[in-house]
Amino acid sequence: MTEPRVPSPPQRSESREIAELRRLKQEQPDLASAADLQIELLQLQRRVQSRVSLPSIRLDTASLNALLATAPVLQFDQLPLEWGDLRFLLRATASAMRSHEALDEKDFRRVEALCRDTDKLPVAVRSWYESAKAGAPPVHPDAAGLEPIFVQAMRPFLARSADAIMAKTDLTGWTRGSCPLCAGEPDFAVITPSADRILICGRCLARWRFHQLTCPFCLNSDRGRITSFASRDGQYRLYACDECERYLKAYDARRASRPVMPAVDGVATLPLDAAAMQKGYK
Ligand SMILES: [Zn+2]
Ligand SMILES: [Zn+2]
Repeated sequence: MTEPRVPSPPQRSESREIAELRRLKQEQPDLASAADLQIELLQLQRRVQSRVSLPSIRLDTASLNALLATAPVLQFDQLPLEWGDLRFLLRATASAMRSHEALDEKDFRRVEALCRDTDKLPVAVRSWYESAKAGAPPVHPDAAGLEPIFVQAMRPFLARSADAIMAKTDLTGWTRGSCPLCAGEPDFAVITPSADRILICGRCLARWRFHQLTCPFCLNSDRGRITSFASRDGQYRLYACDECERYLKAYDARRASRPVMPAVDGVATLPLDAAAMQKGYK
């Protein structure tokens, strides 16, 4: 193999992320509420993640590379879910989002009701997870609209699984726009010093290399139909597709003093989101 390896994600260090969020808050006070919410979410996830076990899947390179042929690699029943911890995270995430006005009262109550219903909860969580697969039915009505809460509450279980898998395979050969492990969509990207673009899954945080200027959502590769611009400080880049009107943000590690941190960079780029939406992208 002559292809350079995709750099594996660094050991997640929440304290480093939280320190960066606090710094961001000081430098950009208008991002304070979003940064505070993110800090709370990281602290909640940290309480659970140290005791999450490994996914029930064969974790050797040959088996994992073989599974890539029938990706997504991770099936719902293989996730190391602990329902008590998940219920705790769902409730606490909803409560944190509610107190930062990132969730309305109606959806807050829906989460509460779902957590009390031991029959409905597993159905809703499975439906959310599996709805990302190509050709899957739409997400169950009990989960519809609650996706941002599921993403956060499922993060420790999915990220633990993705870390364990990525320690054994660099996903070389995966060229699609969706996540090879969970089928989720990329939510962020990083441009490496060698100018590769690595996509980061919005659900499990898995990373895989993807063509620099192709839209991962609709695979449009017409350069004239991709608008790309950098943030004022040059630290971030945004790629917007004129075909599907969606966009993706990236951290430019060629001019960075720290590695990409999706939880931090997602907040730091909220002004870029506003700029993209003003131009009609979604
Ligand atoms: Zn994923
Ligand atoms: Zn597109």
